[in-house]
Amino acid sequence: MPPSFNDFHCRSIEERDAFWAEQAGRIDWHVPPRQICDYSNPPFARWFVGGQTNLCHNALDRHLAEHGEQNALIAISTETNSEKVYSYRELHAEVQRMAAVMQSLGVEKGDRVQIYMPMIAEAVFAMLACVRLGAIHSVVFGGFASGSLASRIDDAEPKLIVSADAGSRGGRVVAYKPLLDEALRLCKHRPAAVLMVDRGLAPMEMQQGRDHGWAERRAAFLDAQVACTWVEATDPSYTLYTSGTTGKPKGVQRDTGGYTVALAASMPLIFGGEPGQTFFCTSDIGWVVGHSYIIYAPLIAGMATVLYEGLPVRPDAGIWWSIVEKYKVTHMFSAPTAIRVLKKHDADYLSRHDLSSLKALWLAGEPLDEPTAQWISKAINKPIIDNYWQTETGWPIMTLCNGVQPQATRFGSPGKAVYGYNVKLIDESTGEELTGAGQKGVLAIDGPLPPGCMQTVWRDDQRFVNTYWKSIPGRMIYSTFDWGVRDEDGYYFILGRTDDVINVAGHRLGTREIEECICAHARVAEVAVVGVADALKGQAALAFAVTRDALEGEQARKALEADVMKLVDARLGAVARPSRVIFVSALPKTRSGKLLRRAMQAVAEGRDPGDLSTMEDPAVLAQIQARL
Ligand code: ATP
Ligand code: MG
Repeated sequence: MPPSFNDFHCRSIEERDAFWAEQAGRIDWHVPPRQICDYSNPPFARWFVGGQTNLCHNALDRHLAEHGEQNALIAISTETNSEKVYSYRELHAEVQRMAAVMQSLGVEKGDRVQIYMPMIAEAVFAMLACVRLGAIHSVVFGGFASGSLASRIDDAEPKLIVSADAGSRGGRVVAYKPLLDEALRLCKHRPAAVLMVDRGLAPMEMQQGRDHGWAERRAAFLDAQVACTWVEATDPSYTLYTSGTTGKPKGVQRDTGGYTVALAASMPLIFGGEPGQTFFCTSDIGWVVGHSYIIYAPLIAGMATVLYEGLPVRPDAGIWWSIVEKYKVTHMFSAPTAIRVLKKHDADYLSRHDLSSLKALWLAGEPLDEPTAQWISKAINKPIIDNYWQTETGWPIMTLCNGVQPQATRFGSPGKAVYGYNVKLIDESTGEELTGAGQKGVLAIDGPLPPGCMQTVWRDDQRFVNTYWKSIPGRMIYSTFDWGVRDEDGYYFILGRTDDVINVAGHRLGTREIEECICAHARVAEVAVVGVADALKGQAALAFAVTRDALEGEQARKALEADVMKLVDARLGAVARPSRVIFVSALPKTRSGKLLRRAMQAVAEGRDPGDLSTMEDPAVLAQIQARL
């Protein structure tokens, strides 16, 4: 009989090394590890010490003999109306060409390569080519402004930058080369070379001696054979910045062996994925979800993966679902923010496609509110599975491990703690562990973090220790900086970020709770609640809401505001009632679709909103300011 999930989880913590030694058997090792986990210098965990492996080998080469002709990469762009499918053998050949080109430009093991690219196949070649050579990639979300790119170039100090002439969004071309040139003018570091992919979308000014064209270089290496460079399990595979929702982005450094094992295990145990199936993750390669579930995990598992460039609603809201039908997608992974975009359209667009191949839809990145979960669940008639994690962890901290034992979903909960994660709820003022059901506290993880999680902050061990491991008094424990509660069956509920917890006249409230409540109002499409300083109560809740339909005139606004307040009074009590509900046409978000509460809060308190480099549309903040 298979183990119950609780036993499985328990063993992953109590017999940690035996558990992960078994999981390590899922990947190929050039030299097997000598030690499973070295935690002699906490909080730094060194996984699979002495082992040598290669991420690209595990993603590509090892599948060639059995699955060489099978689909590996399905690259679809509704921006350029192109579609190309690469088999494992074809992808392997392209990655070797890219690796040879990189070598010819001087890239060696341990060098950094910055990737600033749209969602095109060449970006995938570049990432895989880096890890093939033991070089460390650092992907910067395509289309970030020059300033954000420049600071990341100076932090990573890449030998090579790979980019493209342009990205495209909703049919509008965004030229990357001028942004990159400006970034290179702003930053101190000088990369030895720049490799440009020309999609024919925007003109490029090439700088002699520094800039090289991918097509011309590739032509010289068509038959290239570049062997995988075996690296230590503890050697870094990449660095990646957090989304910058709460402050200055942190440079997360990931290892090689632990990450490969964690992803290899996650596919069968969490997602129930098998070789030959097709995974469609709608994230971007600039985010962690894209690294793990567009590229590495599906390929390590011998699955095909869909790389999609375009909007979810163009040419119409059925586009993703037509891809599911055409390529018999079995696993789909997206974010609540994208589903809220679809929700503005007719559900018919989704249900008119044959979705019979699809097993479930996983959503991550931000709280999944109940109305959104209900709507999508009805529209596609498939299980909707919430999963909670961070750039820092690289793979889910909480979800349903249906590959271990099928588990029921609970609305509003991302599920139980995943195997390997020793999750605790902590009282942030005393540092004490909260063990009772219904007690609210900071979500924390006792070390060592499982394989695949961040090793450190790139070139800043001290920042890693101080930021993540020292925020709770009296103990060294990893803080997620999220606030949560657990029910009697071990299901967690995320109540918001720790700095979103507000204190109204001595009552501690999660802004998420108030948002959930307001979202239940039929006329509210989206809402953000922030705490603002209040002379009388310490803090007061302030709500910014987007309505589903047009809201004309002061009187209509006042009436709806009163109605929303009544709803909060009835459900959460008067203490949670926002002091005002301000109606706006859009909420400020990061480029990854997360609410920028800190910016709203700063504006509401008349402070400088700080670093807005990761913000999607600055005009939205101006509107908020005007309505205050
Ligand atoms: P920064 O750390 O730079 O402020 P960020 O936290 O937004 O940015 P990410 O690592 O992309 O950067 O996001 C992780 C965070 O997203 C989590 O800590 C949590 O707050 C939120 N999150 C992710 N998944 C979920 C989920 N399923 N439910 C609720 N919140 C989620
Ligand atoms: Mg974070």
